[in-house]
Amino acid sequence: MPGMKDFYMILRKPDFYDQFKCIASRCSDTCCIGWEIDIDETSQQSYSTVSGAFGNRLRENIVDGHFKLLPHDRCPFLDSSNLCEIYKHLGEGALCDICREHPRFVEVYGDIMERGLGLCCEEAVRLLFLGDKPLQFTACECDEPEDELDDDDREIRDQVLYERETMFNTLADENIPFAERLFKVFGYSSTNPFAPFESAEAMVSLLEKAESYGPAWDAALARIQNRIKAPSKPNGRAARIEDEGFFSETDSTRLLSYLIYRHYAKCLFEGREHGKRMFALFFWNVARFFTRELAGDCPEEFVKINAVKILSKQLEYCEEIMELVEITLDE
Ligand code: SF4
Repeated sequence: MPGMKDFYMILRKPDFYDQFKCIASRCSDTCCIGWEIDIDETSQQSYSTVSGAFGNRLRENIVDGHFKLLPHDRCPFLDSSNLCEIYKHLGEGALCDICREHPRFVEVYGDIMERGLGLCCEEAVRLLFLGDKPLQFTACECDEPEDELDDDDREIRDQVLYERETMFNTLADENIPFAERLFKVFGYSSTNPFAPFESAEAMVSLLEKAESYGPAWDAALARIQNRIKAPSKPNGRAARIEDEGFFSETDSTRLLSYLIYRHYAKCLFEGREHGKRMFALFFWNVARFFTRELAGDCPEEFVKINAVKILSKQLEYCEEIMELVEITLDE
């Protein structure tokens, strides 16, 4: 029919996506500390027109396209209650793209758009683990421009998404034992718990190779190293490294599926499909073997959440680190 649109973009989201709302001052963390925030050009343009004392402060605190960080890497517009002063003075519409979107992410594969929430945010992690069923995804039509794909690329895209769908379905199939699901998706079995590494030390040495994102990670890594080395038995031998027991089977399948959702299909642009699959396994193993060491000192109900959050901050937000880890795991 004339005027009717023939093609729509498909928007896919994980089951907890729409529940997300930033908990702002109730957050034990804040995403306005510890990161350099790049300001998009449209926002920079609009900040250049804000009048009065606040406008002057805005401009004085922008250098080379990002906010000048204060000591301890605080955003200069984070007030003493950890609330955003740009939001308070100018409204939500004045936030730059990164602040408005964070911790959401988006990937586009031709006419398929996938949205999600980064696990650097404790509220996103809490919502991920709130689900009591294996992770599901919703899909609907949306009115966004698609990335053009030729027939060959579309075929490859469909093949990769089909493989990924098979992984999701297998991980979610509660009719087969969890261990069997892990074997089918990752070739993983408990006879080699640190696979694809031979030992906990080898697994941790990969973590040691990556540049730290900050003091919180330095402290977490030091706790992990101490646990591996510390003799805690009368015979002086190091304690056995095993699952610390914080993640239920459902937590584990949700986390593994989510990591595959976030990273696997990017093999269309970057290759390393095996490395991306194994990244999910590596992340889960580090999180469950070193949950307390990652989480540090926090109330019991936050241990699992904090462990995933700090590991995500360290691994998932730096392209170089993701590349290093995936290349190592791709072998
Ligand atoms: S980490 Fe999440 S909940 Fe906390 S301030 Fe950032 S977006 Fe909000």
